[in-house]
Amino acid sequence: MTMQITKAAAPSMDIPSVGTQLGRYTVERVEALPEMQGTLVLLRHELGARHAHVIREDDNLAFGVTFPTVPKDSTGVAHILEHVALMGSQKYPVPDPFFAMAPRSLNTFMNAMTANDWTTYPFSTRNVQDYFNLLSVYLDATFFPLLRYESFRQDGHRFEFEKLDDPTSTLKLQGVVYNEMKGAMAGAGSVMWRSLGKALYPDLTYAVNSGGEPNDIPNLTYEGLRSFHAAHYHPSNAFFFTYGNQDLARVLDEIESHVMARFAPQSLDVSVPDQPDFAEPRRVDVTYPGSDVERGGQVLLAWKLGRSSNPDLNLRWSVLSDVLLGNPAAPLTRPLIESGTGSALADLTGYRDSFREGAFAVGLKGLSAGKAAEVEKLVLDTLAGIARDGIPADLIASSLHQFEIGQKEVSNSGYPYGLQVMFRLLGPWLYGGDPVTGLRLDAELNSLRADLDSGKRVFETMLEDLLTLPHRVTMVVTPDPLLASQAEQAERELVERLSKDFTDEDRARIVRESLQLQSLQAQESDPNVLPTLALSDVTPGVQRPEYSVTQEGRALVGRVPQPTGGLSYLDVQIRLPELPADLLDVLPLYTYAVTRSGAARQDYAELSRRIEAVTGGVSASAGVGTAPDDLNAVRLAVTFSGKALARNAEALVAVLHDLISAPEFTRERTRQLLEQRLSGMKASVVGSGSAYADRLASAQVSAAAVLEERFGGLTSLATLKAIVEGPEDELGAAGLDARIDALLGQFAQLRELITRGQPLICLTATPDDIGLDVQPITTLFTGDAATGRPALAPLATGPQARTTDSPVAFNAIAYPTVPYTHPDSPALLVLSRLLRSEYMLKEIREKGGAYGGGAGFDTRGGVFSMTSYRDPHIARTYQVFRDARAFLDTPLGERELTEAILTASKILDPLTSPDTVGRLRFYGDQAGFTPEVQEAFKSRLLAVTLDDLRRVMDIYLTPERAAYALVAGRDPNTEVEELGLNFEVQGV
Ligand SMILES: [Zn+2]
Repeated sequence: MTMQITKAAAPSMDIPSVGTQLGRYTVERVEALPEMQGTLVLLRHELGARHAHVIREDDNLAFGVTFPTVPKDSTGVAHILEHVALMGSQKYPVPDPFFAMAPRSLNTFMNAMTANDWTTYPFSTRNVQDYFNLLSVYLDATFFPLLRYESFRQDGHRFEFEKLDDPTSTLKLQGVVYNEMKGAMAGAGSVMWRSLGKALYPDLTYAVNSGGEPNDIPNLTYEGLRSFHAAHYHPSNAFFFTYGNQDLARVLDEIESHVMARFAPQSLDVSVPDQPDFAEPRRVDVTYPGSDVERGGQVLLAWKLGRSSNPDLNLRWSVLSDVLLGNPAAPLTRPLIESGTGSALADLTGYRDSFREGAFAVGLKGLSAGKAAEVEKLVLDTLAGIARDGIPADLIASSLHQFEIGQKEVSNSGYPYGLQVMFRLLGPWLYGGDPVTGLRLDAELNSLRADLDSGKRVFETMLEDLLTLPHRVTMVVTPDPLLASQAEQAERELVERLSKDFTDEDRARIVRESLQLQSLQAQESDPNVLPTLALSDVTPGVQRPEYSVTQEGRALVGRVPQPTGGLSYLDVQIRLPELPADLLDVLPLYTYAVTRSGAARQDYAELSRRIEAVTGGVSASAGVGTAPDDLNAVRLAVTFSGKALARNAEALVAVLHDLISAPEFTRERTRQLLEQRLSGMKASVVGSGSAYADRLASAQVSAAAVLEERFGGLTSLATLKAIVEGPEDELGAAGLDARIDALLGQFAQLRELITRGQPLICLTATPDDIGLDVQPITTLFTGDAATGRPALAPLATGPQARTTDSPVAFNAIAYPTVPYTHPDSPALLVLSRLLRSEYMLKEIREKGGAYGGGAGFDTRGGVFSMTSYRDPHIARTYQVFRDARAFLDTPLGERELTEAILTASKILDPLTSPDTVGRLRFYGDQAGFTPEVQEAFKSRLLAVTLDDLRRVMDIYLTPERAAYALVAGRDPNTEVEELGLNFEVQGV
């Protein structure tokens, strides 16, 4: 049931020996992976397919099949193929098997991705039956896709009349990828990424846009798509990956019978050659759509390096890049930022190994035009200075130490660990290098250490070589306010050019094909073609990792032994006493600033170097909790967390001690941090509009959500803005200084109050390291303040609208419901899953034209909400929210209910890993969410009926209980009169 218990190796864990035949596969290599306690088995099939199998005691089984794909043009063929492959296959001829599988599975990851020169289809799951279900769907999709003409038109490109059946209306270009790439190519970062490949490797596949250049996409033909598939998605060009504690022979049998048996060998050369060297550095000018000509520019210097499949080179550049740029005090970062030329490092700064020959890039952003020469000189002079003066040994040691943590850590954060292993292995493997070096770098690390120990100027020499390298590009990036309208004009001209010779018959065909596609999209597909799981596949229990609890001083200390790969994780959660409202509002600023400032007589630069030298990172956050049986029993806590190699665990304790007890804030550093946070939050409003609207609506119906709104909602943005920008009539830095001084006074009060809170400490480490002495932290607390319900000043009530610069809206509605232990809570969770997949997608996305729509139930906060994302509508969407009840009276069956319960159960069983499983249990238990409480919830969940869904909707999701909030570019009030709503409107 849990992956943490070490079992004796099951028969499936038997390690085959080199030369063993498994059907038509031959075991070519077997390598121990001691760092991750695993074994790598490399096999080759008669047809040429390569297969890497990693044997490891992990119940989250992973799979991936990857094809090198090297497009020769920017029609987006590789990307469009990735979409169309997932739209029906021989065995699964439904329109979207991939999306239809998601709710029929307990997968922990499902996706597909197109990179520069490869395409991959990975998944993971903890259920063996599910693994083979997904394997069958993935193999069929990649090797036997239908590649229907209609799918090509739907997701690739097509002509369409504005009125589908009227050939005299305006002709338009449409297509999912076409529209996706129009959006993707709008940001500076993605424009720069495409331009970097083109600038550094003009003769290779990297010079074209594998995602598709909007103006080139219409040149892709249906035949071109099919032949690209035939040429690339073949066993001879496939790299398979399997991972976990599983039966390799069974997996190979399935691949053999499903795929291999139906192919003949084929030779195909998709290798990428070397890029010929430049004779001298070049300059490229790049524009992106944007209006901030004062601060929207960037200048980036980039060099082509050696082969990224060379493990020595790859290791040394990874380390050097971290030495130069790894933290705010790093020797390249600090002079660049302190020069005042730009406000931050340019996008794409750092070492890049995702080209066959790697690249190193560095530059600045936040520039006005005309700074190219200045930035170029600054970068080159700084690098020359670093090479001349030498790099201090302790900085190199710090970076090697960060590298060691990255190699050892076993975590499912980001990607599931098994897929992290796949991506590390693919790096060298796809470029013809040794896949083992992606997972095991001991030889390379030893040789680097030996070179350093013998006094060689390893990194200085690399920098000197870099500075004499003629293969360099200076990329000058400027925003162009006219670009967006020029792109629209170019699109109109393209449509005109492509359609100028259309005959009446051509126009009639477009109408016919549009109507065909429309009727195809409207057809109900039969999802029973697809494999599925049953409710009996949901494990009834929850994870119960072992841990011990002791009272140490005023602190309760939980110790969780786990196979962490030699890392120790320490969390110090402090339950706070009641805080006055003004301190509540600045608490998130405190937790943001405290790990980025100084402490214990070290300034921020010294402290950040110390943190990098001994830890794998520290953080602080403010959080809110409720009791399982009482939504008004709100608890407020601050948590300081960090991780370190076990040999540095005491140093981690010392760092957390200093951050909690002796933080030091200066006016200047605090101003920098507040400005950084303000610009980050402002930039996030449009991307996270639904989340902001959801919080604002929830804050009207839930005590806990009031705090969440003040910590991370638009209310917290307003607080921050008032400090940084001040009231409009107050000018000059003097006002700002005074406001920051007042804030620093509040910070001092918070520091004092935090040490009077009640600490709950959790240590996760290997059994050998679990006895760590945490006394330096436990003795900090006086714990004399009563922890109670914090003051909750009520926020605004009634419908709330916040306006910002956006052509679309983000709508939200929220309802108060019941606490976790209430018998209706599981039904509300199932209801949210059902509405999300069966109702909202269709009504809000397909019919309403919004990018997304969702329904969610926060089981611990007791709030049910519905939202829409990038939505052209407001009134229509609120009507859809209200009509959800009527939807429940349409014919719904066991399939819809089972899928909703399966997806709900995934929320109760999140994918954990050694770093998270114990702390979730310890803090959950302390808050009352014990295994018994969670298992009771789960058993009720598995018994929910359709009648329960109708009943809870009638009780809790009624118009009188609803709270409304939205973020939009316009005042909604004239549109929503008929709904009887009146929004209070404020600017963001
Ligand atoms: Zn896409």
